[in-house]
Amino acid sequence: MEFDLIDAIRARVNVPRTDVAMGIGDDAALLDVPNGRQLVACTDTLVAGVHFPAVAAPEDIGWKSLAVNLSDLAAMGAEPAWALLALTLPDADTAFVERFAQGFAELARAQRIALVGGDTTQGPLSVTVTVLGLVPRDLGLTRGGARAGDSVFVTGMLGDAAGALCLLQDLQESHPPRRASAGREAAGGRVAAFRQHVREDADASLLARLNRPEPRVAAGLALRGVASACIDVSDGLLADLGHVCAASGVGAEIEADALPISSQLAASFDAQACRDLALSGGDDYELCFTEPSARETEIVEKLAHAGCGVTRIGRIVAGSGIRVLDANANEIEIARAGWEHFAR
Ligand code: ADP
Ligand code: MG
Repeated sequence: MEFDLIDAIRARVNVPRTDVAMGIGDDAALLDVPNGRQLVACTDTLVAGVHFPAVAAPEDIGWKSLAVNLSDLAAMGAEPAWALLALTLPDADTAFVERFAQGFAELARAQRIALVGGDTTQGPLSVTVTVLGLVPRDLGLTRGGARAGDSVFVTGMLGDAAGALCLLQDLQESHPPRRASAGREAAGGRVAAFRQHVREDADASLLARLNRPEPRVAAGLALRGVASACIDVSDGLLADLGHVCAASGVGAEIEADALPISSQLAASFDAQACRDLALSGGDDYELCFTEPSARETEIVEKLAHAGCGVTRIGRIVAGSGIRVLDANANEIEIARAGWEHFAR
């Protein structure tokens, strides 16, 4: 039975690479690492009911389990090469595995990453993906290189996925949220309107950002030798930029008005809720990076070639911690605790 499942996965996730000397089928994979490159390795687990709704479409779980890992490779400036998949299933549900593999394969093909092994076991639904990428020696992007005076940039838009999750939860919950927050109350008012007048396009677009995040792999490659520090935004901008600041021994100032908010998010939430979602909501899978020489135009052009927008949102300063500033450069108090609802 286990072997039928492995075959079902192998048949669907079939991305040929000449650097795979031995893929699925032996005790371990044999991979050719080119001279002059460093291997970049990371792994992430998604647990049903924690990292995705237990009722999520299997194709979306497959896509997202790979996407969150590719996002980490992107943040390192690495080129994806190989993946391993450890799947724990409540039962030998072939239909689930086929659909899961379909979603996984769509993204694997798009990013030319080969599935070279894994493990299949029985238990509560959980998916662990390990990805391996390559980077020219010493050109990997890290969190530790930001310096006072650097500009802070972010790719794409922020807050869409957290907005979708917020709408979904409020639609699904017939009882009030256990832990109320200013952000959720603000959102709650909008959800009533959302129920009556479903903005289908905006709604579908936010949901796609939650279920099918597009890892910024091409952007990460374009930022090699350009960014002084880089991280992917998975736990919310403030939390993740906070990691860059801690690793670099610096602080940051963010201009609230500069935060990139999609028209779809703005259609479903008021301005303050949008700002809070952009600052503290998770699951964006955008890249946040710092750059020393204010080459803003050049960076916008470079990332446009890599297929994504980019916005300068602030700067690195001496000291520690992140301050969010309004248009008059006054600090805004951010009620971060409210979004612990999204804590993972
Ligand atoms: P072993 O008992 O030696 O660990 P397995 O029976 O677990 O071997 O796996 C057989 C082969 O199938 C191995 O090459 C393994 O990497 C691969 N494999 C097992 N599960 C998966 C999976 N979910 N996805 C991809 N490859 C898998
Ligand atoms: Mg095994």
